[in-house]
Amino acid sequence: MKAKLLRNGLLIDGTGQEEKLGMDVLIEGNRITAIGPHLDIPSQYQPHEVDIIELNGKTIMPGMTEAHTHLTWQDSLYIQDIDFKPIEETMVGAIKNAETMIKSGFTSCVSAAARGRVDIAIRDAINRGQLIGPRMLANGAEVSATGSFVDVQPSHVSVHGLAILADGEDAVRRTVRSLFKEGADLVKLNVSGESLTAHARGEMTLYTYKEVRAAVEEAHARGKRVYTHARSSDSVKICVEAEVDIIGHADFIDDEAFEMLVHNKDRLFVVPALNWLVSTLEHGAKYFGQEAIDATGYKEGLEIALRNMNRLYKAGVRILPGGDYGFKWCPHGEYARDLEHFVKLVGMTPMDAIVSATKYGSQIMEMEDELGTIEVGKLADILVVDGNPLDDITVLQDHSKLKVILKDGEYIVNLLDVAHQVENAVV
Ligand SMILES: [Zn+2]
Repeated sequence: MKAKLLRNGLLIDGTGQEEKLGMDVLIEGNRITAIGPHLDIPSQYQPHEVDIIELNGKTIMPGMTEAHTHLTWQDSLYIQDIDFKPIEETMVGAIKNAETMIKSGFTSCVSAAARGRVDIAIRDAINRGQLIGPRMLANGAEVSATGSFVDVQPSHVSVHGLAILADGEDAVRRTVRSLFKEGADLVKLNVSGESLTAHARGEMTLYTYKEVRAAVEEAHARGKRVYTHARSSDSVKICVEAEVDIIGHADFIDDEAFEMLVHNKDRLFVVPALNWLVSTLEHGAKYFGQEAIDATGYKEGLEIALRNMNRLYKAGVRILPGGDYGFKWCPHGEYARDLEHFVKLVGMTPMDAIVSATKYGSQIMEMEDELGTIEVGKLADILVVDGNPLDDITVLQDHSKLKVILKDGEYIVNLLDVAHQVENAVV
């Protein structure tokens, strides 16, 4: 693989330190080997062995992490559509979504559930170099109680594509054990409801402490982690107490749940999936009617979620982007909208929103020593952005502005000219 010299960029390194103008980044093999102004090309290289890419002040930043991914949700209208889609078509769509993910600037992702073994097969194929996609932590089906919000078929119809129903500690243990046997990196439990499903609203807590704790024990015994869907305050408390690792949503938290999250901020992550609420409020009426959207209570729910995310952010809890993309009204490819919500709705600085997507992203991937910041020795997962996301965070949503996307030092996208050093003319 050729070495690459990114020349004269605005460096946002992902550590949260102030951005720096006029910076070069040298990439040799899959690693970053030098950073600084006016870098020389190491003398061991022939001119044709180094790609020189002139950035003229474009932004250099780390690749981002999408922390609530569903590759197998394929811009469906109803949750039921996910159940009914045959696994073969689901697989094909998920392969396409993996490519969309990395070409949107997200070079890593944490799955928050998938159909069957699709995530696992795609993760392995990406790691073997057979498919284009992000670094992935793969998940299995949503482990859920009977009557949860993903238990949506009439009781006389037994179709459960996206969920595995498991009631009681033993059933949860058995399910979690089998998901890890199949190769999942983490498992997903639905601890609260979700108000788009009328019989299992977000305020309801649908798993007991003992059931959640059983899943955590099985995961931690294998060095693996548990990801939960938890909106209600009680569900969040159960998750923290049971030592869940990643809590999705956490929006309806009372003061006690807030304190518990803050107290455990060094070991857990919160992924609010704000775009799900924002997009459903923006576009849901078109598909379901205004009355149905009003009935979800999402409008009030979003206001509560934003207040709580703001105080969690101020208290130093790690909040990550990841927005439940994969429905008709919040399609794949729009992942960077969560960063805009962090800035405009939660009150983060643009720099902190970038840190949450990069440095915190590497922490949730458990690759902090390798990814997430642009530092010498780290893997070269890098974006070049035509624009400054510190001035306008929405620039990250415009795929045409993502001029270079590198993963492991290799081009996923390169829309810029590549030059090679011209040797001094021999007189
Ligand atoms: Zn989700």
